[in-house]
Amino acid sequence: MPRKCVKCSRSLLSLTVDPHEEYLSCREVFCSLASRCDCCKALSQDQFLRLLDSIKDRTERRKASSSGKRKSYPSSQQLHKRMCKMEETLGRLSLFLSSSQGSPFSGFQSPAS
Ligand SMILES: [Zn+2]
Ligand SMILES: [Zn+2]
Repeated sequence: MPRKCVKCSRSLLSLTVDPHEEYLSCREVFCSLASRCDCCKALSQDQFLRLLDSIKDRTERRKASSSGKRKSYPSSQQLHKRMCKMEETLGRLSLFLSSSQGSPFSGFQSPAS
């Protein structure tokens, strides 16, 4: 039976790793090696360091996924910008092509007619 946070009922790390009854983000105080709450006071330093490691893992994983989300937004915007620029360039290119194609033709056609 996995333990759940008493506030948000997200599943917690195992009791041997994290003795707290609240999920990391639900805790009001973040315990550190220097200041521990009653829950983790009983842990040995090794156990507490392991806890910090698993917390770091979690937060880093969360950071990575959220930054990935954030990354995709500007890149799609950038892509859109690039597309617009490409269209603009193509538009200018076709204008250039039609005008450069038009002038020799008109040059050809004017003496014939
Ligand atoms: Zn919670
Ligand atoms: Zn604690």
